[in-house]
Amino acid sequence: MIVQMKKGSTKKEYDHITEFLKSKNLEVKDVSSEAVRIFGIIGDTSTIEPADLYAFDGVQEVTRVSTPFKKASRSFKKGDTIIHLNHGIEIGGDQFVVMAGPCSVESEEQLRIIAKGIKKAGAHILRGGAYKPRTSPYAFQGLEEDGLKLLRKIGDELDLLVVTEIPSADLIPLFEQYVDIIQVGARNMQNFHLLKALGKSKKPILLKRGLSATIEEWLMSAEYIMAGGNEEIILCERGIRTYEKYTRNTLDISSVLAVKDLSHLPVIIDPSHAAGRWTMIDKLSLASLAVGAHGLIVEVHHDPTHALSDGAQSLKINKFTEMMEHLEKVADVLEKKIQ
Ligand code: PEP
Ligand code: MN
Repeated sequence: MIVQMKKGSTKKEYDHITEFLKSKNLEVKDVSSEAVRIFGIIGDTSTIEPADLYAFDGVQEVTRVSTPFKKASRSFKKGDTIIHLNHGIEIGGDQFVVMAGPCSVESEEQLRIIAKGIKKAGAHILRGGAYKPRTSPYAFQGLEEDGLKLLRKIGDELDLLVVTEIPSADLIPLFEQYVDIIQVGARNMQNFHLLKALGKSKKPILLKRGLSATIEEWLMSAEYIMAGGNEEIILCERGIRTYEKYTRNTLDISSVLAVKDLSHLPVIIDPSHAAGRWTMIDKLSLASLAVGAHGLIVEVHHDPTHALSDGAQSLKINKFTEMMEHLEKVADVLEKKIQ
């Protein structure tokens, strides 16, 4: 961090702030000239915020030069994090993995039809919401524990891993019993109590980007989980809120490149919640592969017009199968491999 003092600031003001920094075990390197009083802060600056320093008299500008996240950062770990799951599935590195399934688990029959369809098309991980974070309290809220049981049952029947969203920390033991990957939804990305609790879990966490979260805020949420000891995190770009209304959200495809620069964690794309329209999913999936994402999570339904949630963005099984075929073709051209 670099601190520039105001023109005319006093030695007393300078001493006050530098003593504070030294009390935090930080070193101060003075690089002032005659014209400007300026110093660098050396050490672990993740414990202080630029805003803390603006509280001191005489401070003109504070600039961060290193990232506020440590464990999630590329500089913490040189290679890519690769998460090893059952059935030999790997997430991260050179791997591209496809997760697919309904927005909500609605019934055993519904889940089995969709799971069979995605498995046949080549997906390895079954998604499906059991606890649904709906905008309206009157909308379908999910089958809850019965939904978790169905995911496990059908996952085991078809050798598919399962991922589903957790609404709150008290349900962690239940989720650990039934699922392979615990999803943190966009609305909970900054539920720090939940993130801390997940830091103690042994399950990998799929961390969705918040509705209006910056890339730094998203990585700070990953840091919360990692600080607790759980370093198996899969980041998921699912579109962010912008002024654009045509699509449900704006897919920030460049965030994949940013995250890969900044972090060693794997990052996948959810084109379904980004676009909100099934007609766009095929092409956005190809773009996800091309941009270097480590995988996809896609909503699929056998009967989207009767889906209890997110039918408009759900691919029919035949369209999902076509999408997988297109991905294979693009993977060949890019010399990539789809698991
Ligand atoms: C979901 O995956 O069904 C979901 C609710 O996603 P998000 O948290 O990205 O809105
Ligand atoms: Mn959904």
